[in-house]
Amino acid sequence: MSSTPFGSVAGSITDTFGRPLGSLRLSVTDRCNLRCKYCMPEEEYAWLPRETILSFEEMYTLTGFFTDLGVEKVRVTGGEPLLRRDLPTLIRMLLRNPQVRDLALTTNGILLADQAQALYDAGLHRVTVSLDTLDASRFQALTRRDGHHRVLEGIEEVVRVGFRGLKLDTVAIRGYNEDELVDLIEYGKGVGAEVRFIEYMDVGGATDWSMEQVFSQAEILDLVRQRYGRVEPVNEASSAPAQRFVLPDGTTFGIIPSTTTPFCATCDRSRITADGMWYLCLYATQGIDLRQPLRAGASPEEIRSTIRSVWQGRRDRGAEERKELERFGIREQLIEIGKLREDPHLEMHARGG
Ligand code: SAM
Ligand code: SF4
Ligand code: SF4
Repeated sequence: MSSTPFGSVAGSITDTFGRPLGSLRLSVTDRCNLRCKYCMPEEEYAWLPRETILSFEEMYTLTGFFTDLGVEKVRVTGGEPLLRRDLPTLIRMLLRNPQVRDLALTTNGILLADQAQALYDAGLHRVTVSLDTLDASRFQALTRRDGHHRVLEGIEEVVRVGFRGLKLDTVAIRGYNEDELVDLIEYGKGVGAEVRFIEYMDVGGATDWSMEQVFSQAEILDLVRQRYGRVEPVNEASSAPAQRFVLPDGTTFGIIPSTTTPFCATCDRSRITADGMWYLCLYATQGIDLRQPLRAGASPEEIRSTIRSVWQGRRDRGAEERKELERFGIREQLIEIGKLREDPHLEMHARGG
């Protein structure tokens, strides 16, 4: 047993497949200033009621229960996290917890140029910017909003203020951006960022998803080999979702092959939505309400005990189960639109990617 600002705790715990509770994605809002077609393709959305959204204090407290049980990596996400007012204050608060060893942010970059300095000053460790294209008109077509230049300015500003370890996440979609993947690697090289290609996933909210649009890890590697010749995997033991590769000149890039080559066996991630629902898997349809006990005055040990027992019973392997459906030829969109409207928690933009 050790003592922490949140009480005395027993250390790291594992689920039914021996996977530790290691990293937490903390969604700070379900709102977004883009409408990416792989995430929010619909015209209308149901939003989480404002009074249910956790305060920073509540997020700090909940995060503390998770770090007490072994979480060391926290990623702040959304919706678009930079829409949450005064985000640097939350960053500062989370870093008061010494058990948070790695604090990262995933953003679409639209508001980043304005906020990068304040986030850096608050102590944020790392930034990941989603960047699917280098072409402004494609960006407009994909996101149904303007602002591509602001994303690029945001990326430059992140580098300028001194962040290290910048990552650029690109969802690879056939017929949309597969002809730009090499250019994106080159762009990443230019700004000192590692690019990671994400296979298009059939998560909740991806109502336009089809297998034909998935540009697979194998296809990405073929394309990169055609341009650079040798592409070698980087050998590293990691629970990170990306398999990393190195090019002949030493440039590295990653692929997150969730759709064709799921990596559930090493998944230590879970997610809290902005209103305090805890999801054990990106594909989970049921969550555990942590806001209710928190607001009802449950003791830290009661909430920790819930988290501990739920994690110890975890059997989720959503992406692998989706893959198994292919054998029967029935892999279609995960959740139909009516159900998504009834429960916005099922949406990718609510649970943070
Ligand atoms: N709004 C922020 C952003 O876009 O970076 C953070 C939240 S967003 C839900 C997190 C990540 O999920 C983004 O990198 C986005 O590209 C990814 N994403 C959303 N829908 C996806 C899908 N259907 N397949 C693969 N990645 C997806
Ligand atoms: Fe795009 Fe992120 Fe917004 Fe989803 S939450 S629409 S991925 S910017
Ligand atoms: Fe983890 Fe679920 Fe993704 Fe598998 S599908 S890697 S269990 S979040």
